[in-house]
Amino acid sequence: MPTTAVASARKILTSLHDVMASRSNAQAKLNTVVEVIGEGLDSEVCSIYLLREGMLELFATRGLDQDAVHVTRMALGEGLVGTIAENVETLNLAEAATHPDFSYRPETGEDKFHSFAGVPIVRRERAVGVLSVQHVDPRRYDDVEIEALQTVAMVLSELIDNAGLVDEEDAFGLSSSLTGPEQLRGLTLVKGLASGNAVFHQPRINIEHVMAEDTEAERQRVYLAFDRMREQIDRMASQAEFGVGGEHEEVLQTYKMFAYDEGWGRRINEAIDSGLTAEAAIERVQQRTRMRMREIDDPLLADRMHDLEDLSNRLLRIVSGQLGTAASMGLRNDAILIARNLGPAELLEYDRRRLKGVILEEGSLTSHVVIVARAMGVPVLGRVRGLRTMIREGDHLLLDCEQGVAMVRPAQGMVEAYETRFAKSRERQAAYAALRDVEPFTRDGTRITVMINAGLRDDIPNLSLTGADGIGLFRTEFQFLVAATLPARERQTRLYRDVLDAAGDKPVVFRTVDIGGDKVLPYLRHDDSDGEDNPAMGWRALRLALERDGLLKVQARALLEASAGRTLNVMFPMVSEPWEFDAAKEVFDSQLAFLKKQKKLLPEAIRYGVMLEVPSLAEQLDVLAPRLSFLSIGTNDLTQFLFAADRSNPKLAERYDWLSPSIMRFLKRVLDTIANYDIDVTVCGEMGGRQLEALALIGLGLRRLSITPASVGPIKELVRRVDVNEIEQAMSGWLASPPPNLRKALLEWASEREITFE
Ligand code: PEP
Ligand code: MG
Repeated sequence: MPTTAVASARKILTSLHDVMASRSNAQAKLNTVVEVIGEGLDSEVCSIYLLREGMLELFATRGLDQDAVHVTRMALGEGLVGTIAENVETLNLAEAATHPDFSYRPETGEDKFHSFAGVPIVRRERAVGVLSVQHVDPRRYDDVEIEALQTVAMVLSELIDNAGLVDEEDAFGLSSSLTGPEQLRGLTLVKGLASGNAVFHQPRINIEHVMAEDTEAERQRVYLAFDRMREQIDRMASQAEFGVGGEHEEVLQTYKMFAYDEGWGRRINEAIDSGLTAEAAIERVQQRTRMRMREIDDPLLADRMHDLEDLSNRLLRIVSGQLGTAASMGLRNDAILIARNLGPAELLEYDRRRLKGVILEEGSLTSHVVIVARAMGVPVLGRVRGLRTMIREGDHLLLDCEQGVAMVRPAQGMVEAYETRFAKSRERQAAYAALRDVEPFTRDGTRITVMINAGLRDDIPNLSLTGADGIGLFRTEFQFLVAATLPARERQTRLYRDVLDAAGDKPVVFRTVDIGGDKVLPYLRHDDSDGEDNPAMGWRALRLALERDGLLKVQARALLEASAGRTLNVMFPMVSEPWEFDAAKEVFDSQLAFLKKQKKLLPEAIRYGVMLEVPSLAEQLDVLAPRLSFLSIGTNDLTQFLFAADRSNPKLAERYDWLSPSIMRFLKRVLDTIANYDIDVTVCGEMGGRQLEALALIGLGLRRLSITPASVGPIKELVRRVDVNEIEQAMSGWLASPPPNLRKALLEWASEREITFE
C-alpha cells in the first residue's frame, strides 16, 4: 500500500477505533462512521448498505437523503451496490450512470453525484454489505483511496459483527454471495452417493480482531509467523512424505517462492502500519490479491493463486494459533470433507459416523487415502478443479460418485431427484445384501472365492455383513497409521486375535507392515529416507521391515501368539527377490523357536505367502514357488511399476488402464508359471473389486479375489452371470491378438450376453 494510503487508512482507523469504543448504539456508531470515512476520504457521499433478510439495505449515509435510510433496498445483483455484493468485487467509476448495472434510486437524491466507488464488506468470505463513496465531479478514485476504503471495510465488518447488525443467516446463509447451485465435475475414486455439509480439512481462520492495539506487537507476530512458516516449508522440502501425499515438487517450488517473497511480507507490513492486526493484515493482502487475480483470466495463474491461498492460510493459522484440522475439532453433522489431498492417517482421524463423503482437488484410484475411504465406505470424488473457490464452509453438498459430480448448494428439485436415486441405491444395496449367504458360483458351476480386504478393528463386522469367504488381505499397517506411537506387541496381539476370533473358520491373511510410500509414520523415520525422490520405490514395506527387524520381530511374535492353536496365514509385501522372503521367514522361524522354548501354545499350521507387486519377482517365481503356500497379486503396486506410473500422481490417474493387454499378458504368464505348483493365487488389488476388471481376471483363470467389502455384492452378482468357458476362450483370443481397446471389447462381449455393470 503506498504511504499516502497507509496514512489515510490509519487516520480513519484511529477515528473508527474511538467510535467503536464509544458507548453509543450501533445505528449511532454507523452514522458517525460514514462521517469519519467521508471526511477522511474527502468524499461528499459515504454510505453503508448491509444485508438484511437477503436484501441490501441503506443503513447509514452522509450526503444522500436521510429519508432513504432503511428505505432504499436492493437485491443481490441489483444496481451497483448489489453487483458489488454479489461478485464480492470493487467498482470504481467516474460516471456511475454509464455502468450497465446502474439503477437509479430517486429517494436518495443521488442524481448530482457522478463518480462512484464501492467495496464489499466481507465476513467469512461472503459480502455482508457494501461501503460506497460518491462525488459530484466525474472522476475515478485513486488506487490509494480504494485501498483505504478496502481496509476500512475490513474494520467495519468487525463492527458489524460485534453489533450483530447482520443476521447469521444473511452472513453465512443462502442469501449472500456464491449462493446459486453449482455443479463440479471430477473423477469418481470411490463410488457412492452422499449428502452433507462442506467441512474444510484445513478450516478457514476466523479473524476475531481487525484493529490493532499495538502495531509493533502485531509486526513482531507476523515476523515470527513468517519464520515458522518458512521453517515448515523447508522441512516439507526435505521430508520423504512430501510429494507422496500429492503435494508435488512444482507446488513446493511455488510455496518456497511465495514464502520468501519480500513483496508479500512488505504488503502485510504496510497493512499493519495502517492499523490492522496481524491476522487482518494477512487477510487484507490476500483479499487484494484475490481481487487482482480475478481480473486475469489465466488458468496457470489461477493454480498459483491456490498455492498462495494455501500459504496465506498457513500463515494465518500460525499467527492465530488455530493449528488443528477439522478432525481435531470434531464433526458436528453429516459432513463432506474438502481438501486438496489427504494422507490415509489424516482421513482415519475423522468420525466415521459423520463423515459421509470426501472431495479432493487431487487423488487417484489407488492412493492409500482412497483405499482407506473405500474401506470406510465413504464415496470420494477426486481431481475437482477450483474446489475451494466454489465451495464455502457449511455449504450443502450432494456428492454423486456414480456420475462423478458434486452439487453445491443444490436447489430443492435436485435434492428430491437425489433422494430418489439414493432410495434406488439403497434398494441395490439391499439386493446385494440378500446375496450374503449365496455362494458365488459361475453359470457353469465354478466356485469363485470372494474375500475382503481389511485393516482396522472396525472392518471386522464386514466379514459377516458381506458373507465373504475370508479376509484375503489384512493390512496390518493401518493399526500403525492410526496410532500416535508404535503399537506395543500386546496391542497388536489383541487386534490379530480379535480378527481371528471374528473370522471363525474363515481364513485371514495377515500382511506384515507395509509402511513407507504414501503411508508415512511420523514416529518412524529412517535417517536417510528424508528427501527420497521416489518413496513408492524406496525404503518401504519389507525393505524397511528387514532393516528395522525389531519391528518385524515384534509383529511376528504378535501374529504367532494370536494364532496359537489355529492356522496363521502370513504374507510379505513388496518382495522383489526370493532371498527377501527367506530373510523375513527367518524372523518368524526364530520367534517360533523362542515360543517353543517357552513352551507356549503354537499355531497349528503356518502358511507363508508373498505379494507379487514388484515385476522382478515374476521372473523368479519358479525359484520361490516351492517355498510358498500362496501368492497374492497386488495389482495396485504392480501396475504402477509395470507402467512406471506413480499410483498417487493425480496427473496419471486416468492414463493407464488395468485392462491393458500388457497387464493381462503379464498376469497370464504369472498364472501359467504358478499352475505348476500347488499354490493359491489371489488378486488383492483394487481392480478385483470392479466388475469389468473382475470379469477379465476370471477370463485369465483367476478364481480368488480379495476386494473392498462394498464390492462383494456386485462381484457375486457378476460371477453368477458368467460362463467361465466362454470368457476364457474370448480372453485367450484377445491375448493372442489384442484388440485396439480391450475394455471396449470386453464391454461389447458382456453386453451381447446381457451382462450389465453397475
Ligand atoms: C497392492 O499393491 O495392490 C496392494 C493390495 O497393496 P497396497 O494397496 O496396500 O499397497
Ligand atoms: Mg501394495
